[in-house]
Amino acid sequence: MTDTFFVAIDGPAGSGKSSVSKQVARRLGFGYLDTGSVYRALAWQVRSRGDSTDEPSAVEAAFGAFEPAISLDPDDRSIFVGDTDVTDAIRTPETTAAVAGVAKTLSVREKINELFRRIVAEAPQPGVVVEGRDITTVVAPDAPARILLTAHPDVRAARRSAEMGSADVAKVAEAMRQRDASDSTVVDFMNAADGVVAVDTTHLDFDQSVDAVLTVIAERREGGRDGR
Ligand code: C5P
Repeated sequence: MTDTFFVAIDGPAGSGKSSVSKQVARRLGFGYLDTGSVYRALAWQVRSRGDSTDEPSAVEAAFGAFEPAISLDPDDRSIFVGDTDVTDAIRTPETTAAVAGVAKTLSVREKINELFRRIVAEAPQPGVVVEGRDITTVVAPDAPARILLTAHPDVRAARRSAEMGSADVAKVAEAMRQRDASDSTVVDFMNAADGVVAVDTTHLDFDQSVDAVLTVIAERREGGRDGR
Protein backbone atom coordinates (compact mmCIF):
# COMPACT_ATOMS: atom_id res chain seq x y z
CA MET A 1 0.00 0.00 0.00
CA THR A 2 1.10 3.50 -0.71
CA ASP A 3 -0.13 6.95 0.19
CA THR A 4 1.46 8.54 -2.85
CA PHE A 5 -1.18 10.64 -4.65
CA PHE A 6 -1.28 9.33 -8.22
CA VAL A 7 -2.04 11.84 -10.99
CA ALA A 8 -2.49 10.03 -14.32
CA ILE A 9 -2.21 12.13 -17.49
CA ASP A 10 -2.54 10.75 -21.02
CA GLY A 11 -2.58 12.40 -24.40
CA PRO A 12 -1.03 12.53 -27.86
CA ALA A 13 2.13 14.40 -28.86
CA GLY A 14 1.62 18.16 -28.97
CA SER A 15 -1.27 18.16 -26.50
CA GLY A 16 0.98 19.92 -24.00
CA LYS A 17 1.23 16.75 -21.94
CA SER A 18 4.91 16.83 -20.98
CA SER A 19 5.35 20.55 -20.33
CA VAL A 20 2.02 20.85 -18.51
CA SER A 21 2.64 17.70 -16.42
CA LYS A 22 6.07 18.96 -15.35
CA GLN A 23 4.73 22.37 -14.33
CA VAL A 24 1.84 20.77 -12.42
CA ALA A 25 4.37 18.59 -10.56
CA ARG A 26 6.48 21.66 -9.68
CA ARG A 27 3.46 23.60 -8.45
CA LEU A 28 2.34 20.71 -6.20
CA GLY A 29 5.80 19.61 -5.04
CA PHE A 30 5.10 16.24 -6.67
CA GLY A 31 7.38 13.93 -8.61
CA TYR A 32 7.07 13.64 -12.39
CA LEU A 33 7.35 10.42 -14.37
CA ASP A 34 7.65 10.55 -18.16
CA THR A 35 6.72 6.99 -19.10
CA GLY A 36 7.51 7.60 -22.79
CA SER A 37 11.17 8.05 -21.86
CA VAL A 38 11.24 4.51 -20.42
CA TYR A 39 9.77 3.09 -23.66
CA ARG A 40 12.38 5.10 -25.55
CA ALA A 41 15.19 3.85 -23.29
CA LEU A 42 14.17 0.24 -23.93
CA ALA A 43 14.12 0.91 -27.69
CA TRP A 44 17.64 2.32 -27.30
CA GLN A 45 18.71 -0.81 -25.41
CA VAL A 46 17.35 -3.14 -28.12
CA ARG A 47 19.20 -1.17 -30.79
CA SER A 48 22.42 -1.04 -28.76
CA ARG A 49 22.35 -4.85 -28.70
CA GLY A 50 22.23 -4.77 -32.50
CA ASP A 51 18.64 -6.00 -32.57
CA SER A 52 15.41 -4.72 -34.09
CA THR A 53 12.38 -3.70 -32.04
CA ASP A 54 10.20 -5.30 -34.73
CA GLU A 55 11.20 -8.62 -33.23
CA PRO A 56 9.18 -9.25 -30.01
CA SER A 57 11.70 -11.82 -28.75
CA ALA A 58 14.49 -9.22 -29.10
CA VAL A 59 12.44 -6.70 -27.10
CA GLU A 60 11.77 -9.33 -24.42
CA ALA A 61 15.45 -10.28 -24.27
CA ALA A 62 16.50 -6.64 -23.94
CA PHE A 63 13.96 -6.11 -21.16
CA GLY A 64 15.50 -9.02 -19.25
CA ALA A 65 18.70 -6.98 -18.90
CA PHE A 66 17.02 -3.58 -18.65
CA GLU A 67 18.05 -1.46 -15.68
CA PRO A 68 16.70 2.04 -16.19
CA ALA A 69 17.27 4.80 -13.64
CA ILE A 70 14.98 7.77 -14.04
CA SER A 71 14.72 10.90 -11.95
CA LEU A 72 11.33 12.00 -10.61
CA ASP A 73 12.54 15.59 -10.34
CA PRO A 74 10.55 17.63 -12.92
CA ASP A 75 13.68 19.72 -13.53
CA ASP A 76 15.97 16.76 -14.15
CA ARG A 77 15.16 14.95 -17.38
CA SER A 78 18.16 12.63 -17.22
CA ILE A 79 17.69 8.92 -17.71
CA PHE A 80 20.28 6.15 -17.46
CA VAL A 81 20.32 2.57 -18.65
CA GLY A 82 22.82 0.83 -16.39
CA ASP A 83 25.78 3.24 -16.31
CA THR A 84 25.00 4.86 -19.65
CA ASP A 85 23.41 8.30 -19.80
CA VAL A 86 20.85 7.93 -22.61
CA THR A 87 19.10 11.28 -22.05
CA ASP A 88 19.92 12.58 -25.53
CA ALA A 89 20.20 9.23 -27.32
CA ILE A 90 16.53 8.40 -26.65
CA ARG A 91 15.40 11.54 -28.55
CA THR A 92 17.14 10.78 -31.86
CA PRO A 93 14.95 10.06 -34.91
CA GLU A 94 16.34 6.48 -34.98
CA THR A 95 15.21 5.74 -31.43
CA THR A 96 11.90 7.53 -31.97
CA ALA A 97 11.25 5.33 -35.02
CA ALA A 98 12.20 2.17 -33.09
CA VAL A 99 9.95 2.83 -30.08
CA ALA A 100 6.78 1.71 -31.91
CA GLY A 101 8.08 -1.87 -31.93
CA VAL A 102 8.59 -1.76 -28.16
CA ALA A 103 5.13 -0.25 -27.62
CA LYS A 104 3.54 -3.13 -29.53
CA THR A 105 5.22 -5.86 -27.48
CA LEU A 106 2.37 -6.54 -25.06
CA SER A 107 4.21 -9.01 -22.80
CA VAL A 108 6.80 -6.33 -22.10
CA ARG A 109 4.18 -3.59 -21.60
CA GLU A 110 2.79 -5.50 -18.62
CA LYS A 111 6.21 -5.61 -16.97
CA ILE A 112 6.88 -1.96 -17.74
CA ASN A 113 3.54 -1.08 -16.12
CA GLU A 114 4.56 -2.92 -12.97
CA LEU A 115 7.80 -0.95 -12.97
CA PHE A 116 5.85 2.34 -13.18
CA ARG A 117 3.54 1.35 -10.32
CA ARG A 118 6.54 0.43 -8.19
CA ILE A 119 8.34 3.70 -8.94
CA VAL A 120 5.25 5.67 -7.81
CA ALA A 121 4.73 3.53 -4.70
CA GLU A 122 8.35 4.08 -3.64
CA ALA A 123 8.48 7.79 -4.51
CA PRO A 124 9.66 10.09 -1.70
CA GLN A 125 7.28 12.86 -2.84
CA PRO A 126 3.65 13.09 -1.57
CA GLY A 127 2.41 12.54 -5.11
CA VAL A 128 3.60 11.78 -8.63
CA VAL A 129 2.33 13.09 -11.96
CA VAL A 130 2.63 10.18 -14.38
CA GLU A 131 2.21 10.96 -18.06
CA GLY A 132 1.91 8.67 -21.05
CA ARG A 133 -0.60 6.98 -23.32
CA ASP A 134 -2.25 4.34 -21.15
CA ILE A 135 -1.79 5.67 -17.63
CA THR A 136 -5.46 6.58 -17.05
CA THR A 137 -6.71 3.29 -18.49
CA VAL A 138 -4.18 0.51 -17.87
CA VAL A 139 -1.40 1.57 -15.51
CA ALA A 140 -3.61 3.31 -12.93
CA PRO A 141 -7.33 2.98 -13.73
CA ASP A 142 -8.03 3.61 -10.02
CA ALA A 143 -5.89 6.74 -9.70
CA PRO A 144 -7.70 9.52 -7.81
CA ALA A 145 -6.98 12.03 -10.60
CA ARG A 146 -7.11 10.91 -14.23
CA ILE A 147 -6.87 13.43 -17.05
CA LEU A 148 -6.73 13.25 -20.85
CA LEU A 149 -5.10 16.25 -22.52
CA THR A 150 -6.24 16.80 -26.10
CA ALA A 151 -5.85 19.49 -28.76
CA HIS A 152 -6.79 19.93 -32.41
CA PRO A 153 -4.28 18.14 -34.71
CA ASP A 154 -3.22 21.40 -36.43
CA VAL A 155 -2.44 22.98 -33.07
CA ARG A 156 -0.54 19.90 -31.94
CA ALA A 157 1.58 19.88 -35.11
CA ALA A 158 2.37 23.59 -34.75
CA ARG A 159 3.43 23.14 -31.10
CA ARG A 160 5.49 20.08 -31.87
CA SER A 161 7.39 21.75 -34.70
CA ALA A 162 8.04 24.79 -32.51
CA GLU A 163 9.40 22.46 -29.80
CA MET A 164 11.64 20.74 -32.34
CA GLY A 165 12.78 24.03 -33.89
CA SER A 166 11.49 22.81 -37.25
CA ALA A 167 9.90 25.15 -39.76
CA ASP A 168 8.41 22.27 -41.74
CA VAL A 169 5.06 21.96 -39.97
CA ALA A 170 3.63 19.71 -42.70
CA LYS A 171 6.47 17.20 -42.27
CA VAL A 172 6.14 17.24 -38.49
CA ALA A 173 2.37 16.83 -38.82
CA GLU A 174 2.82 13.78 -41.03
CA ALA A 175 5.37 12.15 -38.68
CA MET A 176 3.02 12.85 -35.75
CA ARG A 177 0.04 11.42 -37.61
CA GLN A 178 1.95 8.22 -38.35
CA ARG A 179 3.10 7.81 -34.74
CA ASP A 180 -0.41 8.52 -33.41
CA ALA A 181 -1.84 5.93 -35.84
CA SER A 182 0.72 3.32 -34.80
CA ASP A 183 0.26 4.03 -31.06
CA SER A 184 -3.54 3.97 -31.45
CA THR A 185 -3.40 0.33 -32.49
CA VAL A 186 -2.13 -0.48 -28.99
CA VAL A 187 -4.08 1.89 -26.77
CA ASP A 188 -6.81 4.54 -27.19
CA PHE A 189 -5.41 7.85 -25.96
CA MET A 190 -7.66 10.09 -28.07
CA ASN A 191 -10.92 9.51 -26.19
CA ALA A 192 -11.44 9.84 -22.47
CA ALA A 193 -12.37 6.57 -20.76
CA ASP A 194 -15.08 6.48 -18.09
CA GLY A 195 -14.21 8.73 -15.17
CA VAL A 196 -11.34 10.41 -17.03
CA VAL A 197 -11.59 14.20 -17.32
CA ALA A 198 -10.78 15.52 -20.80
CA VAL A 199 -8.99 18.88 -20.93
CA ASP A 200 -8.92 20.34 -24.44
CA THR A 201 -5.94 22.71 -24.71
CA THR A 202 -6.66 23.86 -28.30
CA HIS A 203 -7.64 27.35 -27.16
CA LEU A 204 -5.64 27.42 -23.92
CA ASP A 205 -2.16 28.84 -23.52
CA PHE A 206 0.40 27.11 -21.31
CA ASP A 207 -0.58 28.76 -18.01
CA GLN A 208 -4.28 28.20 -18.67
CA SER A 209 -3.62 24.53 -19.42
CA VAL A 210 -1.67 24.16 -16.16
CA ASP A 211 -4.46 25.85 -14.22
CA ALA A 212 -7.11 23.63 -15.82
CA VAL A 213 -5.22 20.50 -14.77
CA LEU A 214 -4.55 21.85 -11.27
CA THR A 215 -8.27 22.54 -10.88
CA VAL A 216 -9.15 18.92 -11.70
CA ILE A 217 -6.52 17.66 -9.25
CA ALA A 218 -7.71 20.02 -6.49
CA GLU A 219 -11.28 18.76 -6.89
CA ARG A 220 -10.11 15.16 -6.65
CA ARG A 221 -7.96 15.85 -3.61
CA GLU A 222 -10.81 17.61 -1.84
CA GLY A 223 -13.18 14.80 -2.75
CA GLY A 224 -10.80 12.28 -1.22
CA ARG A 225 -9.89 9.01 -2.83
CA ASP A 226 -13.47 7.84 -2.96
CA GLY A 227 -14.80 11.11 -4.29
CA ARG A 228 -14.42 10.18 -7.92
O1 C5P B 1 5.65 10.36 -24.88
P1 C5P B 1 6.67 9.98 -25.93
O2 C5P B 1 6.37 10.57 -27.25
O3 C5P B 1 8.09 10.22 -25.51
O4 C5P B 1 6.50 8.40 -26.06
C1 C5P B 1 7.29 7.69 -26.98
C2 C5P B 1 6.53 6.44 -27.42
O5 C5P B 1 6.45 5.51 -26.34
C3 C5P B 1 5.08 6.65 -27.85
O6 C5P B 1 5.00 7.05 -29.21
C4 C5P B 1 4.49 5.27 -27.62
O7 C5P B 1 4.79 4.42 -28.71
C5 C5P B 1 5.25 4.77 -26.41
N1 C5P B 1 4.51 4.91 -25.16
C6 C5P B 1 3.57 3.96 -24.83
N2 C5P B 1 2.91 4.01 -23.63
C7 C5P B 1 3.19 5.00 -22.76
C8 C5P B 1 4.14 6.01 -23.09
C9 C5P B 1 4.76 5.94 -24.30
O8 C5P B 1 3.32 3.05 -25.62
N3 C5P B 1 2.57 5.01 -21.57
